[in-house]
Amino acid sequence: MSTGPTPASPLTGGCACGAVRFAITAPLVDAGYCHCRRCQQRTGTAAALNGMTAPGSLQITEGAELVGVWRPAGGGNPKSFCTACGGALWAGEPSGEGNIAVRFGALDGDPGIAPRWRQWLDSAPAWEPIPQDGLPRFAQRRPLQR
Ligand SMILES: [Zn+2]
Ligand SMILES: [Zn+2]
Repeated sequence: MSTGPTPASPLTGGCACGAVRFAITAPLVDAGYCHCRRCQQRTGTAAALNGMTAPGSLQITEGAELVGVWRPAGGGNPKSFCTACGGALWAGEPSGEGNIAVRFGALDGDPGIAPRWRQWLDSAPAWEPIPQDGLPRFAQRRPLQR
């Protein structure tokens, strides 16, 4: 496992079509799986793996004008994505500013952090068994640790 990204050695990523590119310049501070219904519908998969960035450590390097956002009516973080290909980018503002939970699938390389928990197991679908990976499990949203 690497020590994580730095300004000299950023962790890069982007969307499926390549129009949106970004760079993360500080180690991720947390990471985990979300099995909530919204993540299933948003991604078309059983769960989403996200990594929490240090505030201000993500910069959009290409295609900022193509980053769209969905702000769920029921609350929760905005969901940013590429409007050209639909690729999920991060939870957080489309500018990439503030608290950002980046989608691991958008990253190019080693995120330098392993998943630490699974949340919203109450919503996990029956068609995808949860691996016995020893990670802490939360029936709903995990308690915030900061
Ligand atoms: Zn794209
Ligand atoms: Zn979720």
